[in-house]
Amino acid sequence: MNFNTTLLHKDFGSDRSTGSTLTPIYQVSAFSQESAEKLEAVFNNRAPGFAYTRIGNPTTDSFERRIASLEKGVGAVACSSGMAAVTISLLNILQAGDEVIASAGLFGGTIDLFRDLEAFGIKTRFVTEVTAETVRSQLNEKTKAVFTELIGNPKLNVVDLKSVADVAHQGGVPFIVDSTTATPYLVRPFDFGADIVVHSSSKYINGNGSAISGIIVDSGKFKWDFARYKGLEEYKRFGKFAYIAKLRNGIWRNVGCCVAPATSFLNSLGLETLGLRMDRLCSNALQLAEFLQGFEGITVNYPALKQSPYYDLVQSQFGGKGGAILTIDAGSKEKAFKLINNLKYATIATNIGDLRTLVIHPDSTIFAHGTKEQKENAGVFEGTIRVCVGIEDIEDLKEDFEQAIKNIDL
Ligand SMILES: *Cc1c(COP(=O)(O)O)cnc(C)c1O
Repeated sequence: MNFNTTLLHKDFGSDRSTGSTLTPIYQVSAFSQESAEKLEAVFNNRAPGFAYTRIGNPTTDSFERRIASLEKGVGAVACSSGMAAVTISLLNILQAGDEVIASAGLFGGTIDLFRDLEAFGIKTRFVTEVTAETVRSQLNEKTKAVFTELIGNPKLNVVDLKSVADVAHQGGVPFIVDSTTATPYLVRPFDFGADIVVHSSSKYINGNGSAISGIIVDSGKFKWDFARYKGLEEYKRFGKFAYIAKLRNGIWRNVGCCVAPATSFLNSLGLETLGLRMDRLCSNALQLAEFLQGFEGITVNYPALKQSPYYDLVQSQFGGKGGAILTIDAGSKEKAFKLINNLKYATIATNIGDLRTLVIHPDSTIFAHGTKEQKENAGVFEGTIRVCVGIEDIEDLKEDFEQAIKNIDL
């Protein structure tokens, strides 16, 4: 099955009980069973079924199955936000005294999260970029996870999955990848050795900017050393499902970061057009990036551009697709603000993965609280504008950016 067919048909024909062509929104808190024995069995993972929406819901279950099969994982767990997914993917295997190796060029919220985790005795060793060499240099007996974004937001650096996965595995450590900006359309990270994938499904998976959520997917392939990952030991009997079983029965359920059934419905709906949207978004982004290169005083950063240091990796890992985000540098904050304000079709908002083109000046907004070093590591400078390209007609986008740049005249 190819990509778009998978989105529509894999693990989904129609709703089993009614034949409805979409899984309906099961807008309920609890599910009754016909006997005390049956509810006992459901509660103890001995029978399929639902008990309570914080623990499981048919609309969410359908969404999770579709993402798991799309990513070629053994299971997926949906969360209330992308940040919840990132947090819980780590806390499922970490305890006080453990260390994580992570990229310094991460989404601002994730950088803040690693700082929060210090209060619980979990230390993060940041490396400028996650590569085989930098990970090898930081690995030690306390390391319990390697974490990175596949395409950094907004640095747009691309990680070589296979080489990093190999080093992590030699160290007995799982490789957790935030694949939000890449999406399964560019790559299935499990094909290149990643062990756990997380998404902010608020973005390209939902695709319409209509709801916040996240999802964690497990490849089921990591060989857990239960002496090192003590918390997982009681889930050993679940075999390749050990990580997912611990999530479902442990921290994910107990923190209570479940997704709302209505959000799962919107996500499944959006997911069906992921391929169509990404086709258009990647094509628009590349054309806009190439066009903007021609303007004096503007520098363009897009990983699928020929002069990008990530060009070869984009070819080998993503089949040549560079995603939907580019950054441009206008030279100063003043010029960047002017350019942004001159745009007619771009929405000024802090989001990515919408149908509309979105722009933001990261330095004064999402990175406003970052240190100079943190900003530089994330590719954020005074004149940087993040452009999250939408599905508008490319002629209109080009014309709009052209007039916005020409009218900067300071
Ligand atoms: C948006 C985003 C997150 C956080 O997701 P929310 O759904 O906003 O909580 C995490 N990682 C990346 C790469 C993101 O773009």
